[in-house]
Amino acid sequence: MSVTVRVPAKVNVRLAVGAARPDGFHDLANVFLAVGLYDEVTAAPADTLRVTCTGPDAAQVPLDATNLAARAAVALAERHGISPDVHLHIAKDIPVAGGMAGGSADGAAALVACDALWSTGASQDELLAICAELGSDVPFSLIGGAALGVGRGEQLTPIEVGGTFHWVFAVAEGGLSTPAVYGEFDRLTAGAQVPEPTAPPALLAALRKGDTTALADALGNDLQAAALSLRPSLADTLTAGTAAGALAALVSGSGPTTAFLAADADAARTIADALAASGTCRSARVAVSPAPGATVR
Ligand code: ATP
Repeated sequence: MSVTVRVPAKVNVRLAVGAARPDGFHDLANVFLAVGLYDEVTAAPADTLRVTCTGPDAAQVPLDATNLAARAAVALAERHGISPDVHLHIAKDIPVAGGMAGGSADGAAALVACDALWSTGASQDELLAICAELGSDVPFSLIGGAALGVGRGEQLTPIEVGGTFHWVFAVAEGGLSTPAVYGEFDRLTAGAQVPEPTAPPALLAALRKGDTTALADALGNDLQAAALSLRPSLADTLTAGTAAGALAALVSGSGPTTAFLAADADAARTIADALAASGTCRSARVAVSPAPGATVR
């Protein structure tokens, strides 16, 4: 018997970053939106913990105990006093180190898969608590949809979404390290008064109404300047997508994936084709949002 769980990527439609705290983390107001690019994690009985991975970026995924899927299995097993003997196979379609929370997604998916495989019967609250221990973005991968995250981004309040949004994601060559991007944010904001991070009411209203034009006006990412500083060529990708008709363009999370909001499915296809032809990115993917969280198939 095995259990397969499908889990979505995310885009941050508003990532407001506060000043660095004494512990080095930043307070965030982080509006997550799950998008329909998916990884699948399959958990199967095994003699020992083992991780395998397939997909275009598989070579960049660590298969040892640092893999977030493996860490999730160990965390659940420890809490229930069992041995984490499981084969976790990740069918990876979410870009790696792309600012789309692919590793976090696999952590949430592995947790749900192992809970079902081992019949540990963890409540949603227990699963969310384990997710928060694994990383700031992991709880959102569990619940999907849309949510406002405060604290380090892990304290979530779900947001209702009243329609479908059409996106294009330009996948860049190579990744960007999230800590390096925060380090650059600290460097760029040193000595400046960094405002308290908040989520604009207009953005939350746009999500609730399913209003694409209003969402385009309210998108924002405080890490964008830092990502562009580390990878100046991303400006060319943003320009190419905007020239092809995107209503708005932004760096996704810590990058280097860039996200483009399109008026409808046809516009998304046109923007993706133009980006792919522009030579400013490795590939361009269309996806719709919102998408459901980690779900057993
Ligand atoms: P975020 O958006 O949460 O900042 P990201 O999408 O930029 O994350 P990930 O794809 O999660 O980045 O990968 C970041 C790093 O995490 C990788 O370079 C890899 O070393 C490590 N990692 C651990 N587990 C996984 C996993 N299951 N899949 C991908 N990367 C993983």
